Amino acid sequence: MNAPGNDQNHFLRERYEAAFMPNYGVPPLALASGSGCHVTDVDGNAYLDFIGGIAVSSLGHAHPALIKAVGYQVATIAHTSNLFLNEPEILLAEKLLALVDAPARVFFANSGTEANECALKLAVKYGKTNGRGYIVAAEDGFHGRTLGALSITGKAAIREPFGPFPIDVRFVPYGDAEALAAAVTTDCAAVFLEPTLGEGGVVPPPDGYLTAARAICDETGALFVLDEIQSAIGRTGTWFAHQHENVVPDILTLAKGLGGGMPIGACLAFGEHGTLFAKGDHGSTFGGNPVCAAAALAVLDTIDADGLLANATAVGKHLADGIRALNHPAVKGVRGRGLWLAIVLHDDRSADVEAALRDNGILANALRPNAVRLAPPLVVTRDHVDTFLAALPAALDAAFPPGGRP
Ligand SMILES: *Cc1c(COP(=O)(O)O)cnc(C)c1O
Repeated sequence: MNAPGNDQNHFLRERYEAAFMPNYGVPPLALASGSGCHVTDVDGNAYLDFIGGIAVSSLGHAHPALIKAVGYQVATIAHTSNLFLNEPEILLAEKLLALVDAPARVFFANSGTEANECALKLAVKYGKTNGRGYIVAAEDGFHGRTLGALSITGKAAIREPFGPFPIDVRFVPYGDAEALAAAVTTDCAAVFLEPTLGEGGVVPPPDGYLTAARAICDETGALFVLDEIQSAIGRTGTWFAHQHENVVPDILTLAKGLGGGMPIGACLAFGEHGTLFAKGDHGSTFGGNPVCAAAALAVLDTIDADGLLANATAVGKHLADGIRALNHPAVKGVRGRGLWLAIVLHDDRSADVEAALRDNGILANALRPNAVRLAPPLVVTRDHVDTFLAALPAALDAAFPPGGRP
């Protein structure tokens, strides 16, 4: 690696710091290019990408199917607005409806947050129509950063500085079906849940939680909204994480992995809820953009054609089993499913592990102080995993030096 201080990464980071709002801090690297499961920084250092742009780069980098679809669509027509429809958005909507395998209607947005805004507006409309005044969401849940999505985001530290919010939201501990049953009455408009907490630490709920949540919503008439923005599109080995429990939500939101790196979000409303919005109730200039729709179609078709759901299951298991088999004293356990895992540490040293992995040519993410998130592209192979597993002990040793903290 180049000496820090006189390299392109350093130079770009300084310019970034001067030009950008400080909301992200300054990221450690400037990435210049990628191919498959590898990315290269502006100084020419290559990294094995085990975070995939936060579970976004489903097909890895520079996948031929994505290049072809996006290139063709930009060269044909890049934008129509919602004043006109386009065939790629229809093909994509039809494909998603076929995958969910239940009658539904689609709205396309440009991000996860916006997909949730659509779901929230549906919930508010449903609530107003039926005299239901509040929404229930999970402590530690994450649904986005706009004021609407933020109002249902459970982490007080990121929500409260921007409150109060116009929506009455009540938070319950995630994974506790009894607490959920106590909070949801016939006055509740909707329950928003992730099938596994994503930003909250890749924390799966106890078995049966989603089934219980579905039953509670059925009993009270509250809408059951599943935020699958991070968990869907093959990440856990099925198209949607809720398929592991065989529950069908009333509303489903998608984004991250759907566009394989192109920005697209989707909100699906099932059954009669598919026609809750009347003409004029919602919209987006870029939503249903044909380039993003073509990209998403390429992602879905490639997942199908290349057996990437089975790959996520098999390679994800190899990865989780491999981490456990290291029996490293710094590791408390592994959470998650498929290619969506958290390495849980005994101590709050995840930032050190992330940095040590990066120094050894691997990108991962210090998601929580004691948890390192792995979300490699769905095209990742056993060989890539073996490379990761070979590098992990040294990175853990660097973060947890024998004899205690440095
Ligand atoms: C990332 C994420 C969001 C927000 O999506 P953006 O595209 O960043 O707006 C919402 N919900 C979940 C579960 C997410 O993981």
